[in-house]
Amino acid sequence: MRSVLLRIVLAATLVVGSLTMLAYTFIQTETQTRLLDNLSDWVVERARNDSVIFELARDNLARFSREFIRLYTSDVTVTEEEFWSYYETDQDNAVRMRREFYDGVYAEDGLYYEGLTSFIGNNQPVDDADLQRRLVLSTRLLAQLGPAWINRFENVHVTFPENAIALYAPGTPWGLEAAPDLPMNELGVIRSMQQSENPGREPGWSGLYYDETAQEWALTYQVPLDLEGRHLINPSHDVSLTEVMNKLVTDTPDGGYNLIFRSDGFLVAQPAPPASDRRWVGQMSLETIDDPAVVRIYELIDAATAGSPGTVSLIQNEVDDTWLAVSELAGPDWWFVSVYPGAMIRSSANQAAAAVLSTGTLLLVLLVVIIVFIIRRDAERPLAQLHEAAQRVSGGDYAAVAEGRVSLPRDLGNEVGLLANTFYDMTVNIRDTQNTLERLVAERTQELEAANSNLRELSLMDGLLGIHNRRAFDRDLERLFAEARSGHGSFFLMLIDVDYFKLFNDSYGHTQGDKVLQQIAQAITRSIRNDDRVYRYGGEELAVLFTCTSAEPTRYVAERVMTSVRQLEIEFSRSKHGVVTISAGLAKLHDRHTQPVDIVREADSLLYESKHKGRNKLTISG
Ligand code: GH3
Ligand code: MG
Ligand code: MG
Repeated sequence: MRSVLLRIVLAATLVVGSLTMLAYTFIQTETQTRLLDNLSDWVVERARNDSVIFELARDNLARFSREFIRLYTSDVTVTEEEFWSYYETDQDNAVRMRREFYDGVYAEDGLYYEGLTSFIGNNQPVDDADLQRRLVLSTRLLAQLGPAWINRFENVHVTFPENAIALYAPGTPWGLEAAPDLPMNELGVIRSMQQSENPGREPGWSGLYYDETAQEWALTYQVPLDLEGRHLINPSHDVSLTEVMNKLVTDTPDGGYNLIFRSDGFLVAQPAPPASDRRWVGQMSLETIDDPAVVRIYELIDAATAGSPGTVSLIQNEVDDTWLAVSELAGPDWWFVSVYPGAMIRSSANQAAAAVLSTGTLLLVLLVVIIVFIIRRDAERPLAQLHEAAQRVSGGDYAAVAEGRVSLPRDLGNEVGLLANTFYDMTVNIRDTQNTLERLVAERTQELEAANSNLRELSLMDGLLGIHNRRAFDRDLERLFAEARSGHGSFFLMLIDVDYFKLFNDSYGHTQGDKVLQQIAQAITRSIRNDDRVYRYGGEELAVLFTCTSAEPTRYVAERVMTSVRQLEIEFSRSKHGVVTISAGLAKLHDRHTQPVDIVREADSLLYESKHKGRNKLTISG
C-alpha cells in the first residue's frame, strides 16, 4: 500500500509539477513580453507628448511664413518716414526699435504694440527700402501672432540675412540690450539659414543651449523663407525645453532612466552625469563621452534603426543587460531612449510567475494530502482490517469476525467495502456451518455413546434370562473386591444352582427348562434389593452380589431368594420336593480372601454343602 501511495503521489507530483512549470514559463514569458510592450508603448506615448511642442513650432512658423509672403507680395507700402516711426539710431550707430514698442504703444498704423524689440547691427546699412519694408511687415505680424503663441514658447522672432532681428518676447528686451556690433549672421544658428550654408532651404533646429537670460534650456527653430530665389527672412521660435529635460529625470519607468541622443550621435541629455550634477544637459559628441555604456546604447540604436528610430521601439542590450525603448522626438531629430534593466523585467516577470509556482505547490500539497487521506480511508485502513479479520479466520476464530468483534469496512462504498461484505458473509457461513457440524458431531457422538453403552450393557446381559451375565459378574466382583480392599465397604456372594435340572430337562423338555430358568431369574430379581444384583454364573447356576455390609439383612434377603423360587411352585414330580428348588451358598468377604476367586471358591463349597445336605438349602459361611 505504501508503494502504491508513493507511486500515485509521484505521478501527481509529475503532472502538477509539469503543469506548474509550464504555466510558470508561460506566465514568465507573457509577463516579460507585456512589460516590454508597456515600456515600448510608454516611450512612444512619451515621445508623442514631448513632440507636440516641436510640431506646434513648425505649424506656427509655417503660418507666419504664409502670412508674411501674403503681406510682402501685397501692395502694402512702407515709407521711410513710417520705418523711422518704428526705429531710431542709437549713439553707437546701431538701429533699434523704439522702446515704447516693448513697453506698449498704439502706433500710427492703429495697432497696439508691446513686448517687441528689434535690432540691426551697426555694420549694416538700413537705407534699403526692401529691408525697411520686411522689418516693418515682420514687426506687424509679430504683434498680431505673437501674443497667441507666447504661452508655449520663449519667443517668436524673425532674423534677416542682413544682420537684423525682430523679436516678440515680453519680459526679454533682447533687441534693446544687444551689443551694437553683434555679428548675428556670423553666429552658427542664423548663418545656417543662409542660402550658401543651406542650399536645400531646410528648416533647422539649433543645438540645445542654455538661455542665461531666461534661465531655460532652449532650442531655436528657424525656417528660411525665400521668394523667387531671394532670401527674405527666417521666422524663428525659441522653444523652452526645461520642462522636457526635467521630465527626463523625474518621469522615468520604475528602475530605469532616460536619455536623449541626437541622431548624429550627440548626447543631448542624461540623468546621471559624468560630473557631479544629478542631471546633465548639453551637446556632447560621442568621442567626448567617456561612458562606454552610453556609447554602446547609441551604437545599438544606430545599428537597429539605420537612422530612423520611428520604425523601432525596443532593442535588447545584452552587454549591459538592459532593454532600450526608443522613440523619435519629431522636430529636432532626437531619439528619446528609455533604459530599463533586464533584471527588473525578469524579477517582475518572476514575481507574477512565482504566484503561479506557489499556487501550484499549494495545489500539489493539497492533492497529496487528499490522495493520502482517501487511500488511507478507502484502502489502507480497510485492507488492514480485512487482513486482521483474515488472520482471525485462518486461526479458526470465525466467530470473532461473524459476531463483529473484529471490525470490517463493510460500510465503505467501494470494491474494498464489497470485498469486506463478501468476506463477512463467507465468515458467517463458515461459522454457521461449523456450528451445525459441531452440533451434529455432538449429537452423533451422544448417539454413539448411547449405542456404545447399550452395546456394553448388552454385552453384559444374558440373552436368555434377561439378567447380567458371567462377564458382568467378573467385572463387578473385581470392582467390589478392589473397593473393599481399599477400605470402602464389603460384600456377600451367593452362588445358586437349580436342583436336578438335568432330570427336569429330561422330564419336561429343554424348552420348558429354559422357561423355568427365566422364571427363577425373575423371581430372584424381584427378591433382592436395588443395590444387589443377580447374574447368570453359567448353565443353570446363578450368583448374587450383595453390597450390604451387615450379615443379618443379607441373610434375610438370601432366605427370601430361596423362598421366592419355592413359591413359584413349578411342578417337578420326579424331584423329592415335588417342585423346582434351588440350592445356594452365601459367603461374606473375609480377610483370608486374597483374590476375588477365593470368595467364589468359598461360596461354591458352601453350595456344594447345600447339595450334599439334600438340596433346597442355603448354607451360610460360619
Ligand atoms: P444337581 O445339581 O441337583 O446335582 O443335579 P443336576 O441334574 O442339576 O446336575 P448337573 O449339573 O449334572 O446337570 C445340570 C443340567 O442342567 C444339565 C443341563 O442339561 C441342564 N442345563 C444347563 N443349562 C441349561 C439351560 O440353559 N436350559 C435347560 N433346559 N437346561 C440346562
Ligand atoms: Mg449345576
Ligand atoms: Mg443343578
